Amino acid sequence: MSSPALDALTQALARLPGLGPRSARRAVLHLIKKRETALAPLIAALQAVARDLVTCGICGNIDTADPCAVCTDPRRDPASLCVVEEVADLWALDRARLFGGRYHVLGGRLSALDGVRPEDLAIAQLVARVADGGIGEVVLAMNATLEGQTTMHYVAEQLAPLGVRVMQLAHGLPVGGELDYLDEGTLALALRARRLVE
Ligand SMILES: [Zn+2]
Repeated sequence: MSSPALDALTQALARLPGLGPRSARRAVLHLIKKRETALAPLIAALQAVARDLVTCGICGNIDTADPCAVCTDPRRDPASLCVVEEVADLWALDRARLFGGRYHVLGGRLSALDGVRPEDLAIAQLVARVADGGIGEVVLAMNATLEGQTTMHYVAEQLAPLGVRVMQLAHGLPVGGELDYLDEGTLALALRARRLVE
């Protein structure tokens, strides 16, 4: 029906989250029809991202600059730090500018089942960052899953000797809720009503 090149493009797009074969075919048709206004800018954007993508050495965010745009943004409160499991969580919180401070991405969650230990996550880096000083409050914004909560309590224990206020998101997060899937209203509420970790 179509050339191997078009098939390959359709299949690559169909593997993206949120797209299926049908949406992928429509996207390919659109790109073919709009070569100048859709295809060319997409190629340029993909090339730029592939060329420049780096992990921020400070917070673990993925961006095209290191340190990332979040870490270098002077409008953010450097005394407030929000700890998340994944880059997707950082982006979810930052999409609506829900948090005015900076972030720290752990790179996952503790899991006995999957063999994820504290040293597999950026916990030591977090402790070092807080120990450096200048941070007054750490918000542990882990997912409301069993593993997320286990991770939260472990991280809180590691931060306890450093004398910073260690906060958690308010109850009201749906149990099993992953931050990336929550609407902005729920996230804003959970952040605003944050409380000390007990
Ligand atoms: Zn950063």
